[in-house]
Amino acid sequence: MNIQWYPGHMTKAKRAMKEDVKLVDLVIELVDARAPLASRNPDIDSLAAGKGRVILLNKADLASEKANAAWIAYFESQGFQVMKIDARAKATLKQLNALIQEACKEKIERDRRRGILNRPVRAMVVGIPNVGKSTFINSFAGKAAAKTGNKPGVTKGNQWIRLNKQVELLDTPGILWPKFEDQRVGLLLAFLGSINDEILEKDELASELADYLRNITPGLLKERYGIEEDGKKPYELLDEIATARACLTKGGVNDLTKAARLLLDEFRGGKLGRITLEMPEKKEEAE
Ligand code: GDP
Repeated sequence: MNIQWYPGHMTKAKRAMKEDVKLVDLVIELVDARAPLASRNPDIDSLAAGKGRVILLNKADLASEKANAAWIAYFESQGFQVMKIDARAKATLKQLNALIQEACKEKIERDRRRGILNRPVRAMVVGIPNVGKSTFINSFAGKAAAKTGNKPGVTKGNQWIRLNKQVELLDTPGILWPKFEDQRVGLLLAFLGSINDEILEKDELASELADYLRNITPGLLKERYGIEEDGKKPYELLDEIATARACLTKGGVNDLTKAARLLLDEFRGGKLGRITLEMPEKKEEAE
């Protein structure tokens, strides 16, 4: 399946982000817990060089708990401060604050040596579109400080939101672009609904999703829709879901577009359970 990307505005977003990152001590990177690598941009490591780093596995409420734990271990082993969150919930601020202090401890120590005490850490939120940046800023800032929805390239004067005595957050998130060139990444992000749906053939996408789920969570489609999974082509899986859920056209034949929407909505809404689409690569066991 060929996924078309429209990266035009991303050049602008990248420029804006390069400017903003100069203003902060810490970069809080949101990734989608259901596909933590596909929803990352590797350029962030050079863009955020020298800054404190925190990775938040967002939408952890939709991802598998076991996978969340594996991903936390994975990113921690790479030296990041990591936490899983549901950006819609406010409860995690205290824990996040501790993480931020840890991620910036060198800066805080440097300040102390220079006699600067209690200067707040300045932080910015970054992530690919739809990962939950605005939701996060809103719920952590308490008020409607960030507009929800994606408006890449809109510039306005930066405002600092005071989270508490120790942390100030830039009100505008930095928008990262996904790995455009990687078709697998495009597919996973399309499953999650993180790239513009209108540019994709829904039936094809949903068939691919059914096929993907059959491989990573065998038995799940059978359990949910009562269909046989084995030996079916991706399209046949979708067709069976249409039959199972009586997705029919007026003429009484299977309506695959309807079935596609149903499967995608149920998957994205967590109705199929908490599913993580990719796992960290296993390290070679020591002999
Ligand atoms: P942004 O483009 O990165 O700013 O993403 P938004 O903040 O606009 O969020 C995109 C969508 O994801 C919205 O519909 C949010 O309600 C939803 N969302 C954000 N965070 C979470 C989360 O932790 N869990 C769930 N289930 N949905 C979330």
